[in-house]
Parts: sequence; C-alpha cells; structure tokens
Amino acid sequence: MNRELENALVASYPAIYRSLQPRFSGETRFECDDGWFCIIDELSRKLEAESQTSKLRAIEVREKLGSLRFRLRGDITSTVDSWLAEATRLSQHTCERCGKPAMLRGHKDGRVRTLCPMCAAAMGYVLE
Ligand SMILES: [Zn+2]
Repeated sequence: MNRELENALVASYPAIYRSLQPRFSGETRFECDDGWFCIIDELSRKLEAESQTSKLRAIEVREKLGSLRFRLRGDITSTVDSWLAEATRLSQHTCERCGKPAMLRGHKDGRVRTLCPMCAAAMGYVLE
C-alpha cells in the first residue's frame, strides 16, 4: 500500500497499529494494494474503539491467496472475529488494485489475486 495511505491508517488508529512493523526492512507495513484501503479503514475504525478494553493490536495485514489476512493480538471476542471474517469476505469481491467489484484471478506464474476485469487485463491475470 502506498506510504500516504499507510500513514493515514497509522495516524487515525494509533492504538491498534502501535506495534505493526514491516516484515522486511524498508517494505510496507500493509502488504496489499490500495484498493482494499476502504475495507481496512472500516475494520480499523471498529477495532480501534474496541481496543480500549481488549488491548487489540494488529500484527499482520497482508494479501494472501487473493484475500485480506488481518491478524491481531489481544482479547479477540466473537464480535471481533466476525468483523475480521466480514473484512476477509469483502476483500474476496473487491479489486485489490482499484476497489471495484472483482473476483479471484490467476496469473501464469501461479500467483492469484482478487482483481476487476480491467486491472486483471492490465496485469496479465485471467479468470481462475
Ligand atoms: Zn481494479
């Protein structure tokens, strides 16, 4: 995710992102493309409010196999768990690059991502 969006998330939700670090030095903390910003923003807003009581903090935010993978430490209640599941489900239908309606597509190099038709064509992905 681009630095400007990353910084906006960390500034808006300081409690849950207080210890999120890039896995690789110099890399991004949010390892997915910008199209999922709104999903992460909405999820973060709920988690930040919840973090007052449950000490939640994000330890991993990335794309994996075309879905958003968002891992937390702290007291993960069933409500929190349902928010995470909802965000994952949304990511499976939202273009990771531009945020438009999308589905899972594959590349001949074996990689899969959730992309809209235009982004898929631009990046050489076809329907799975
Ligand atoms: Zn797209």
